[in-house]
Amino acid sequence: MPELPEVETVKRALSKTILGQKILNVKSNFEKIVASPDFKTFQKNINGKKIESLSRRGKFLLFHLSGGRTMISHLRMTGHWLIYPRLKEDKFMHLIFPLSGGQTMVYADIRKFGRVWLIDSKDIGRFESVLKLGPEPLGDDFVFAEFNRKLAKNKSKIKVILLSQRLVAGLGNIYVDEVLHAARVRPQRSAHRLKTAEKKRIFEAIRRIIAKAIKFRGTTVVNFTTPEGKGGDFQKQLKVYGKKGNKCPRCKGEIKRIVLGGRGTHYCPKCQR
Ligand SMILES: [Zn+2]
Repeated sequence: MPELPEVETVKRALSKTILGQKILNVKSNFEKIVASPDFKTFQKNINGKKIESLSRRGKFLLFHLSGGRTMISHLRMTGHWLIYPRLKEDKFMHLIFPLSGGQTMVYADIRKFGRVWLIDSKDIGRFESVLKLGPEPLGDDFVFAEFNRKLAKNKSKIKVILLSQRLVAGLGNIYVDEVLHAARVRPQRSAHRLKTAEKKRIFEAIRRIIAKAIKFRGTTVVNFTTPEGKGGDFQKQLKVYGKKGNKCPRCKGEIKRIVLGGRGTHYCPKCQR
């Protein structure tokens, strides 16, 4: 599932090609990918618009268009944005955006859980899913004092809180497991019982690992590819995620897999306390 580093990688790759181009005539063979408005209105409001800039918030990708519109995308499990050098169309492409420069921008999604919204740009501040996101892990407003204070009041398990997007935005299953391993904290610990030093290690690991994963253009575990069809490289840096039965690179303990909050969770019982 694409997380912050993967969505950031998609944003950077798309930016190289699509900025300044106009969307000519969008098509779809699975209109439900567009959550709102209805597909006819979506077509009417997006055709002819110029893609002025791209931004990212948490795992959301925002296409800022001319005419005061913004297209928001969430890839969920298996969504992909792809760029083809010329006009291209096939049944695995769920949204097809022919561009004025001759390329085709495509949204493809095997499991079809991803969604796209087209909103008035002035309503971004009221778009609920973005509104409730916590700070960006690499942003200036992600500060330890606040992180510490919020965890002290929360009795949920630390992994569940980090996945919730409310304390910090953009982390999913892979990076939460990696962060908690780096911080030597067990994923099933209750947040309000964590010591300050442990929370500090988690906070610092979030920043360090997310920054590094962006540098490596994300992680390709199942089927993440960048818009140019390349994979990420961070999978070679993973220490615990997907490594059940392997030796922990830090202490040589055996990495265990449990299910926590409905998600497969990897950790080292020997060095994560
Ligand atoms: Zn270990």
